[in-house]
Amino acid sequence: MRPLRKRMKATPADMARCMEAIRNLDAYLDEELKDEAKATRIAEHLEVCEDCGLEARTVSSLKVSLRRMAPEVDPGTLDRLRSFAQSLENEEA
Ligand SMILES: [Zn+2]
Repeated sequence: MRPLRKRMKATPADMARCMEAIRNLDAYLDEELKDEAKATRIAEHLEVCEDCGLEARTVSSLKVSLRRMAPEVDPGTLDRLRSFAQSLENEEA
């Protein structure tokens, strides 16, 4: 088990970092941040801030599964899958 990190008292500067990280999280994760200094700041912040780090991991895993779930599926394939599932259900009934 990982030892719990002592939570430091959040200063206004910390909060500004959190705000920046969260606001830019989407662009950062999509590697769309043009401002490299900002991207580096956010990367460092995600390392040290448990809340933002967790948020980043959650959002990025969501993005990965969305990408996996939404390949271009043509409607014909979906229909065939549906009727196949339907026929399986009917067999079991
Ligand atoms: Zn933070």
